[in-house]
Amino acid sequence: MLTNRQLFLRHLGLTSSSPMMLEIEKAEGVFMYGPAGEKYLDLVSGVSVSNTGHRHPKVVEAIKNQVDLYLHLMVYGEIIQSPQVKYAEKITSLLPGELDSCFFVNSGSEAVEGALKLAKRYTGRSRLVSFRKSYHGSTHGALSIQGEEKFKSSFRPLLPDVFLSEFNNQEALDLITGLTACVIVEPVQAEAGVILPEGNFLKQLRDKCTQTGALLIFDESQTGFGRLGSMFATTLFGVIPDILVLAKAIGGGLPLGAFISSTEIMSKLAFDPPLGHITTFGGHPVCCAAGLASLDVILLEKLDKEAGRKSALFRKYLNHTSVIEIRGAGLLLAAVLGDEKRAQYAITHAPEFGLVLDYFLFCSDAFRIAPPLTISDEEIIYACLQLTKLLDEMERNER
Ligand code: PMP
Repeated sequence: MLTNRQLFLRHLGLTSSSPMMLEIEKAEGVFMYGPAGEKYLDLVSGVSVSNTGHRHPKVVEAIKNQVDLYLHLMVYGEIIQSPQVKYAEKITSLLPGELDSCFFVNSGSEAVEGALKLAKRYTGRSRLVSFRKSYHGSTHGALSIQGEEKFKSSFRPLLPDVFLSEFNNQEALDLITGLTACVIVEPVQAEAGVILPEGNFLKQLRDKCTQTGALLIFDESQTGFGRLGSMFATTLFGVIPDILVLAKAIGGGLPLGAFISSTEIMSKLAFDPPLGHITTFGGHPVCCAAGLASLDVILLEKLDKEAGRKSALFRKYLNHTSVIEIRGAGLLLAAVLGDEKRAQYAITHAPEFGLVLDYFLFCSDAFRIAPPLTISDEEIIYACLQLTKLLDEMERNER
């Protein structure tokens, strides 16, 4: 009989040249457990998903309750489903401005697709402005606006009329014109290695969009739901987009995404043509119930505020000669080692030190620190101790 490891390699479509290959049997809180009792502290959160940890009891309870009522009933937007409407109300109540109409989908990529379509439909324009080293998903539209050519060239032709700018660079302002449908930006560029917006860059984008009638889209797939030390980046930076993309942590560990806008803008998807965006499973009731329970935990335990304090703990205790910089905000951090081989060493050998680490798509000399926001102070100190041992070993092996 083949082992799970062999079956993984034999039967799963894989695109990573170096998958983690950790076999996990159970996960709880900030820990994952292997079949032989191995215990790993999760410093990745499934890439900014598990903000309330693995299997938070309140999330599990909400899922179980919903499973006892109904699963899929009908394609999105036809039948009134309590988990959906309650969750949309809760999310929009936390958002500024007129962001009060929430279109649920299944993933970040799909939310980006919906947001781009909405911007084109609302403005009647086709030009899209996005940023180098941005990641917005893997579907054709999302790939078209992604910032790294090497991931795109084999799949051309992609969407036309895409204009790429450096992040934090004034050239973006010149690209935004009366022909621009939208500017899509991660307010903090995650896969670029956690790059924060400088000065009033986001505000300048906002102003130029307002002047030209282009829509501003924030992709908060990674930054949303407390990760930056604030519930959303839009409130943290005081800049309100026309469309907000949410994904990842929005489902409390289940697949969910959303694009959110004003009722006026969103209403355009309902005519010319009608059914301007359709999804079968978008806003699945079990995913919405899980997401709502997870958001309630974040609010109740003030995990958003706590992320800022916990960030400082990582900076205090991860004090190692090999770490050149800890970049980022809240619990979305990049530990910069300044060398690709070193970063690879740390990530590959992390499990031997009881840790799960990950790399960034577009920043090869750093590793990611993005644990569940529920991580305790003791667990942070333990994580930093293990990281220190790992980095010590890395240095020893270089000698
Ligand atoms: N936007 C951003 C900023 C992301 O980080 C990601 C996923 N890494 C996506 C969109 C795509 O999300 P998904 O994988 O759920 O399609």
